[in-house]
Amino acid sequence: MSLPTTKEILNFNDIIVALATPPGKGAIAVIRLSGINVIDLVNGVFKGCDLCKKKTHTIHFGLILDGNTVLDEVLVSIFRAPKSFTHEDSVEISCHGSQFITKSVIQLLIRKGARMAMPGEFTKRAFLNGRFDLTQAEAVSDLIAANSAITHDLAIKQMRGGFSSLIKKLRSEVISFASLLELELDFSEEDVKFVNRDNMNMMLNDLLNYINNLLEGFKLGNVIKTGIPIVITGKPNSGKSTLLNTLLNEEKAIVSSIPGTTRDIIEDKITIDGIEFRFIDTAGLRSNSIDEIEMIGMSKTKEYLKKAFSVICLFDLSNETLDSINDYLKEMEILNTPVIKVGNKVDIANHFLVNELKNSDFIFISAFKKQNIDLLKSKLIEYVNKEKIECLDSVMINSRHYESLYKCKVSLERTLTNSRNNVYAEFLVQDVKLTLHHLGTITGEITTNDLLDNLFSKFCIGK
Ligand code: GDP
Repeated sequence: MSLPTTKEILNFNDIIVALATPPGKGAIAVIRLSGINVIDLVNGVFKGCDLCKKKTHTIHFGLILDGNTVLDEVLVSIFRAPKSFTHEDSVEISCHGSQFITKSVIQLLIRKGARMAMPGEFTKRAFLNGRFDLTQAEAVSDLIAANSAITHDLAIKQMRGGFSSLIKKLRSEVISFASLLELELDFSEEDVKFVNRDNMNMMLNDLLNYINNLLEGFKLGNVIKTGIPIVITGKPNSGKSTLLNTLLNEEKAIVSSIPGTTRDIIEDKITIDGIEFRFIDTAGLRSNSIDEIEMIGMSKTKEYLKKAFSVICLFDLSNETLDSINDYLKEMEILNTPVIKVGNKVDIANHFLVNELKNSDFIFISAFKKQNIDLLKSKLIEYVNKEKIECLDSVMINSRHYESLYKCKVSLERTLTNSRNNVYAEFLVQDVKLTLHHLGTITGEITTNDLLDNLFSKFCIGK
């Protein structure tokens, strides 16, 4: 007797159904079904033609009937295995987008033998049926969540296998390294060394460099995915909240002329030229403040400043001197974050000061009168190096991948240390196998039910 396949263990014989479009009113709603005999099941409630006799990838007009009651006029699309998203027989019913209709049709299909799909179950089935690997399945979720051109582009590349191909390349190199060690083990009694240890250490170093580059890419990927964090800092009353409002085009931050009003951190996202930015308006750095709440605000500010992609340093040109500006900029230098120097209130500025700053890399704006805001925006785009981001073939955007890859790095680093200390191959092999295990969890060659349940439960029903 042969061992049961994953499919048999997971009992894929049932038919799942879910609404694939958002709930609520709409011109059209799509109900999605997948599973063995699904075409038969839908045929039982459909009047128009015999769906069982129809070819794959065809659409049919007809009625959905509950007994003698017409529930709706619909279009039924048929996808026969394996040419469907799930690689199973699948059906999509496009009906009118009324909650009453979709509910009635789904209830009818459940009465006829289908069951409600779990969150992400269509994608989970696609993965378990070998349609794509885990990173590609995860990209489906990222693709739907993408709200800027760049995140969309990265998710598409990941869905089409960009990131998995990098991991596969890494895996095949670790496998060839492991095979060399295994060979050495097979002949250990003859004291044969297949690879000279120096060469082996070089190979390990190359692998670690490759992993480090991927890990480094995550910082960029994550920043692109969650919005590029830009902190707006400056003394109280320099116009930070006004600038944030102008950038956001709405009244979110409290604007007031009493210094120190922005006591908490205000954060919002805007998309400029297809890239999502996360602007963070901070309490500013007022080193002589004695107000306790303001001091908490300032220590929070420092944390944000360190983590920011770059910092907009805002100066009130009607109320500063060259010395006070330089002092502030000096304070910022310690944080080691790139700074965009912006002179605000150019409409009421001290002209001597503007003259003094003219030949520096200052941008002069009026947040209040919305002057030169586009110039500031293009400076931001220049800073993030949009061309470079667009050229990225693939970059890691998922923290689960980061965690597994980081574990690979740790085990390979241990292998390298042990190898340098001439530890026997049989011990080295264990860490290399651990590395392969972690790599396998990224693409899904190695999975556990807990991992899959956890991962797909974050998807919505119908996905
Ligand atoms: P924050 O403490 O740095 O957040 O400063 P606010 O945004 O609350 O601004 C302080 C004051 O400066 C408010 O009265 C704003 O209306 C005013 N203000 C901000 N930007 C400009 C500007 O470009 N020109 C002028 N004339 N006033 C501005």
